[in-house]
Amino acid sequence: MSTSFKTTCCYCGVGCGIVVHKDRQGKLHVEGDKDHPVNKGMLCSKGMNLHYTVMDTSDRLLYPEMRYNRYLPRQRVTWDQALERTAAVFKQIIQKHGPDSVAFYASGQCLTEEYYVVNKLIKGFIGSNNIDTNSRLCMSSAVAAYKMALGEDSVPGNYDDLELADCIFVAGANPAWCHPILWRRIEAAKAANPSLKIIVSDPRVTQSCALANLHLQLHPGTDIVLHHAIGRILIEQGFTDHTFISQHTEGFTRYKETVMQRSLASAAAICGISETDIIEAATYIGKAKRFMTLWTMGLNQSVVGVNKNLSLINLHLITGHIGKPGCGPFSLTGQPNAMGGREVGGLSNLLPAHRLMNNPAHRKEVQEFWGGVPLSEKPGLTATEMFTALNEGKLKAIWILCTNPLVSLPEARLAEAALQKAKFVVVQEISSKPETLQYADVVFPAAAWTEKEGTMTNAERRISYLQKVADAPGEALPDAEIICRFAQKMGFHGFSYNNAAEIYDEHCRLTAGTNIDVSGLNYALLKEKRSVQWPYPKGTTDLGTPRLFTDHQFYTPSSKAVIHSFDDDNKSAPPDKDYPLILTTGRIRDQWHTMSKTGKVSKLKQHIPAPFLEIHPDDAKERDIRADDIVEIFNSNGAVRVKAQLSTSIKKGVVFLPMHWGKILNNDLSRANNLTHNRLDPISKQPDFKYAAVQVLPY
Ligand code: SF4
Repeated sequence: MSTSFKTTCCYCGVGCGIVVHKDRQGKLHVEGDKDHPVNKGMLCSKGMNLHYTVMDTSDRLLYPEMRYNRYLPRQRVTWDQALERTAAVFKQIIQKHGPDSVAFYASGQCLTEEYYVVNKLIKGFIGSNNIDTNSRLCMSSAVAAYKMALGEDSVPGNYDDLELADCIFVAGANPAWCHPILWRRIEAAKAANPSLKIIVSDPRVTQSCALANLHLQLHPGTDIVLHHAIGRILIEQGFTDHTFISQHTEGFTRYKETVMQRSLASAAAICGISETDIIEAATYIGKAKRFMTLWTMGLNQSVVGVNKNLSLINLHLITGHIGKPGCGPFSLTGQPNAMGGREVGGLSNLLPAHRLMNNPAHRKEVQEFWGGVPLSEKPGLTATEMFTALNEGKLKAIWILCTNPLVSLPEARLAEAALQKAKFVVVQEISSKPETLQYADVVFPAAAWTEKEGTMTNAERRISYLQKVADAPGEALPDAEIICRFAQKMGFHGFSYNNAAEIYDEHCRLTAGTNIDVSGLNYALLKEKRSVQWPYPKGTTDLGTPRLFTDHQFYTPSSKAVIHSFDDDNKSAPPDKDYPLILTTGRIRDQWHTMSKTGKVSKLKQHIPAPFLEIHPDDAKERDIRADDIVEIFNSNGAVRVKAQLSTSIKKGVVFLPMHWGKILNNDLSRANNLTHNRLDPISKQPDFKYAAVQVLPY
């Protein structure tokens, strides 16, 4: 006999529905929700094993902890003691150094309600925009590109469109491992419609390539050259949609001039692929009646991430493949609620409901709604800028919630030095494992997945309600409650919610009249409908808005989509004689982020139990490296030491490290981010994780 609860997977942005069964002893078991429109009962290996991550509480933080100075160990304290001291220190720092001397660094895994209150706290009451999240490392280039091209941060289509497309271009992504259930749906679509053409561009032969009609194994950083070359062929071969271009876009003439500047032969040479393959890709796209693109970190995590995104979106705008069934650019979200976070304005350059920070009317509207201090028009520090500011002494206090920056940030050793220099560090966490804890002056134990209720929005704008299944262990509290209790200790009104539903209602009211209006939503409706897609304004009775821009009216001032033009240079620091190889980093199938959850599940460790370096046999031979040799990968930022895995799947001149591992037994030589650069895209401020010049030698 067991009780069943419906919720949503807390890992990737696919957003699969899960049923959690709880027996009389409180033991949990999960299965895919057969009625959920996203996964229809399927779960990937990570989702299938989610219950182990909450049932094993051996690593959980159970009580608030605090230390009075850096030379004393932390000790268990009451919630009141921890919150009062934190509020006192924050007040003191703000009084002495101003509101911009404190910051919150949060996560795309936070629930929408959690994002909402922390964003309201810092922007609306402390008076700083210093809140950013690890979504900056994941989605910010796509967000900027959508806004620039379509006038709004909005994914136009939905997952069902993937089953209607007759050509899908997967650019710089490996959804077979990173978005597995979505890929199962594409595999099924291909089985049902063998004429569906799939193109994958990636310097590595990944699992996703197995389904592809065409794999473009390009050099890292050459995506814009490839996309421009495809654009050129589409124009030359008459595959463009002239009516759509003239009626619904602007910027085509300049785009045409730009893409014509580079010959196909030159593009092929730069990308390291054949002209024939580029022509074949363009022909698949040109002949398609319904064309979709999918992408993730291969485009986003780049010093030219926004331009890479725009160059791909341009292929839709010149062919008119947007706002129609089976069509559209579709950025795949890495995290489960990156989109929900942006809906509440949870980044340092956003305001709630995608309002603009530099718009005085928008700031006033939000201030009047919240009843706090005037909102600052100055964008706050982004993820990596916070750690730079700590290092420079400009930022004094940081509150890190639900993320593990000492594994996930580029140039991780600089991030460590930053926390060492910080005057005050608060860590709000579920687990005792993250490296940040050793720098924490105050630790707040947080409730995990299934131990709290709330909402999340997946990559197709689908908002789902997550039920509470069990109580959190010890004295751990839901993240939103921790923030609200702190806000009250700071003396701020407007944080005395009775439950998460009241926070959600407030968020929904604040979206009214915006492009992402969800004023028709509340928990009762979400429980009844299970999930809906935004916008969902008052009066909506169906399941929301599956597809945007069906009228080809975009959110730009002219209502036309903008075809942007720019050069095709990669601005990363190129390889040289000292560091002749290009390092790229990424995920493996069964681990999630920095492994604080998946690392606890023995079944998930079986797939790939240890970090490794993937290197081409020719590059290995040149260095006298054999399979399973320990090698040292190094550059001016640091070093990593792992076993070599020789593989012809990776392009010669490129090496790959998985991103998940941090310190092992206090040794940081497994951490890929010892080597990555904190070079940022100038618009999105997203770091260049996919391109670092390194040398590899036998150790
Ligand atoms: Fe969870 Fe993503 Fe796997 Fe679905 S595909 S079960 S959302 S990790």
